[in-house]
Amino acid sequence: MQNQLINSSEIGIFALGGLGEVGKNMYCIEYQNDLIIVDSGLLFPDEYLMGIDYVIPDYTYLIENQEKIKALVISHGHEDHIGAIPFLLKQVRIPVIYASGLSLGLIKNKLEDYHGLYANLQEYTETSVLKLGEFKIEFFRTNHSIPDSFGIKMTTPVGVIVHTGDFKFDFSPTGTEANFHKMAQIGQEGVLCLLSDSTNSELEDFTTSEMVVSETIKDLFTSINGRIIIATFASNVHRV
Ligand SMILES: [Zn+2]
Repeated sequence: MQNQLINSSEIGIFALGGLGEVGKNMYCIEYQNDLIIVDSGLLFPDEYLMGIDYVIPDYTYLIENQEKIKALVISHGHEDHIGAIPFLLKQVRIPVIYASGLSLGLIKNKLEDYHGLYANLQEYTETSVLKLGEFKIEFFRTNHSIPDSFGIKMTTPVGVIVHTGDFKFDFSPTGTEANFHKMAQIGQEGVLCLLSDSTNSELEDFTTSEMVVSETIKDLFTSINGRIIIATFASNVHRV
């Protein structure tokens, strides 16, 4: 079905969730008969949604355009980016899901819990080049509060779309470094549209590096004699 809002020579970029809210991230990039989905997250309900466990996007558009869907590509393994995958698979036929590293493992666990087997979960690495319909998909490492977070470069007949995923610039990360060279190279080649998501990006100044966290913990361990109890997000594996 032709999307009435997109001319055949144009690319459509739209969100089914995740804009102006923290949760249920899901972005669609559509060109003619090809549609790529980036992320499939859920939103945890607030105190006004009594009895609701999870909030997921409305998948009607995807159900009505199933034949266009070429792949679901996952930027990183946070619940607001992968949590709705089992619910999506119940309603929409997704030919292949691409994820990397920790995200891949988390999705496998999730599918076993909820949905049973899904045949086509594929791993990508930073050097992967995927050809999906008219799209060429590549990846670059970023730093985020969960390992194996990637930005996604989508080369289309109209131009290059870059989706950063969630990230922060950290020049002394505790895990793998972000690939600034690849980001710079993509920038040099030219980007038609950048989709960027970084907490507090509207504030001037840098976010504190992860290295400061480990130094602070080290100081506490050497100065406290009693028992120490630490709480952290389970997915922040580098801190663990
Ligand atoms: Zn995230």
